[in-house]
Order: sequence, then C-alpha cells, then structure tokens
Amino acid sequence: DRDNEPGGIVVVGLGRFGGHLAGALIRLDHEVLAIDRNADLVQRWSDQLDRVAQADATDEDTLRQLGVAEFRRAVVAIGASVEASVLTVLALVELGVPQVWARATSAKHAKILASVGAHHVIFPEAETGEHVAHLIVTRMLNFIEFGDDFALAKVRVPRALVGKPLAQVRPVDRYGVRVLGAKLPGEPFEYASDTTVLSPDSILVVEGSLEQVQRFAALT
Ligand code: ADP
Repeated sequence: DRDNEPGGIVVVGLGRFGGHLAGALIRLDHEVLAIDRNADLVQRWSDQLDRVAQADATDEDTLRQLGVAEFRRAVVAIGASVEASVLTVLALVELGVPQVWARATSAKHAKILASVGAHHVIFPEAETGEHVAHLIVTRMLNFIEFGDDFALAKVRVPRALVGKPLAQVRPVDRYGVRVLGAKLPGEPFEYASDTTVLSPDSILVVEGSLEQVQRFAALT
C-alpha cells in the first residue's frame, strides 16, 4: 500500500542523503515538504521545492504547525546527530504519521530508531557498501534481494559458458539458478529458452538464492 499512496512526503534533513532523496521524489512528481534547521540549506532549496521550512524537527508542536500530521509518510534523513534523528522520529510517531522512514548511521542507531517506533529503518552506508562489494568481486552488474535470501541479478556471462545453449548449461541443475532472460547490446530483452545461446556480450537476468546467484556470478 506504500508506493502509490497519494499525498506528499515529509523529508527532514536536506544534507547529502536527504537532498538526493528530495530531488528524486520531485522528479517522480511527488509533493515534498522539506524541513531543515539550517537557513542556508533552506534558502538553497527554496526554488526547487514547493515547501521548505526552516525549523527544529525534534519539536512536535513545530511539526504540527507545519501541517506534518496530515502527511501519511515522512523520512528522517538526519545522519550526523543520533539525538536529533531519534527525537524527530519520536515526534513524528507521536503525531501519528503512519509511515515513518528513518536513516540509521550505525547498527545501534538502527536499533534505537526501531525501538522508538520507526516503521522502516534504512542504513544506506551499510547497504550500499555491501552492494558494491558484490559488484566488485563478481560478474554482477546489479542485484535486488527479496527478503533474506531470494535474489534477482543482472550478470555478465561467465566465460566458461559462452557459446553454449542453456539446454547444455543446465543452470538450474548445476548452479541452482534460473536464467530468465538475456539481452544483447542494442537489442531487445528476450526471455530465455533451452535454445538461448549465451554470447559473450549478453547480459543475463538470473534468479535464485543470493548465495547461488553470487556463486554463478563468480564463475570465471
Ligand atoms: P548527510 O550525511 O546526508 O549530509 P547530515 O546529518 O550531515 O547528513 O545532514 C542532515 C541535515 O539534517 C543537515 O542539513 C541538518 O541541518 C539537518 N538537521 C539536523 N538536525 C535537525 C533538526 N533537529 N531539525 C531539522 N533539521 C535538522
């Protein structure tokens, strides 16, 4: 029920992370109410955002006066000050905002955010660091993890498999992954079949457990 909900989104903190987030939300055509206590930042964002307020977001009354209680979603993008981040989440929860997303900068910070009632805790540095590690050491170009285990990945063809049809590669039996499709540069995506031949330039879409997808992407 989250993604297509009507109504705007409150973004607290227009630092590097919050700034990118607010910018992306605007490009996705969402109304953003941004709050930051830094006057220079508020000034800088004022022509890009419909509503930017200079305020201390830890104060519940201030948030109420800004109309925050009418929003269904808020993101607390404060990173450097754990205290300001936690108090802002608390104020938003007390106001009754139904979906509060909060950014953590450490595992302990994440725990505290969850315990004061944040509905979603994100940890961008940890998530991006882990993500990039996979991309560096395997043939994966990108991946999405569902739950703790299932993954969908964009993978370059392992050299050992080039030129072979999938019927011969037997990815399900041998690697525990399913090749869903393949795409050659400049050509449309095609669903894979037994006769699909893996060419060196193909980009594959592969599904399976994260471990099996990683193992497949690490083949040389
Ligand atoms: P980043 O790593 O994304 O740059 P920072 O923690 O440095 O994150 O920036 C967070 C932003 O949140 C800053 O612009 C800061 O002014 C703002 N901020 C911090 N505390 C509050 C608060 N209590 N109320 C409103 N904005 C705040």
